[in-house]
Amino acid sequence: MVYGIQIAIDGPAGAGKSTVAKMTAEKLGFTYIDTGAMYRALTHKALSEDIDINYEDAMKHLLEDTEIRLLPSTKGQAVLVDGVDVSEAIRSQEVTKRVSAVAAHPSVRLLMVDKQRQLANDKGVVMDGRDIGTDVLPDAQLKIFLTASVEERALRRFKENSVRGNATSLEQLQADISERDRADSERKASPLRQADDAVLIDSTAMTIEEVVDKISELAEERMVR
Ligand code: C5P
Repeated sequence: MVYGIQIAIDGPAGAGKSTVAKMTAEKLGFTYIDTGAMYRALTHKALSEDIDINYEDAMKHLLEDTEIRLLPSTKGQAVLVDGVDVSEAIRSQEVTKRVSAVAAHPSVRLLMVDKQRQLANDKGVVMDGRDIGTDVLPDAQLKIFLTASVEERALRRFKENSVRGNATSLEQLQADISERDRADSERKASPLRQADDAVLIDSTAMTIEEVVDKISELAEERMVR
């Protein structure tokens, strides 16, 4: 039995964080929190309401007026914005292209981090994102930095997309992923970086199951008995 520790999983786009975090949470009986989905949810609402995502004050006010809920579902996690299920819509190309600009606004991040800490309060959680080990949960008992080569990450996205009927080329996916990594790593407010005490896992040549097993083993080592 693993007691309620906090597990932070960070890393670049398409490294498999969400899949791995969800499976690890299931295995350990923990709550899974997809923080990227929260930034995506806000981006989606701004685009639907024709709000200029580059205007920080407008985005902050929009977030103050938005209820974002993450609910467990058979597909992993349902995302509700003001009571409406946007789980599919937040994965669109348009949202994916714009989300990093939204996530770069410091005041938006402050509010999001506050919500994320409340969600993680007092429970066993697996939280994935970009700044979880460095900023959101700096005292997490286990921090993972999950990465893979950009070619492998683009290929995984390509395969996922083919199943969904999305025909974006491999070259385009690789370019989009590299651009998102650049934006997330170079922004001023809590950029993507490996926490000093994080364990680096390069999943380029690993299966999802191998990654989940590795993280679960590390979690068991760190659990408080
Ligand atoms: O994880 P996902 O790819 O869904 O995240 C979408 C975007 O949200 C990232 O590219 C990043 O710009 C932003 N994000 C962030 N901090 C987090 C999680 C996501 O800035 N903790």
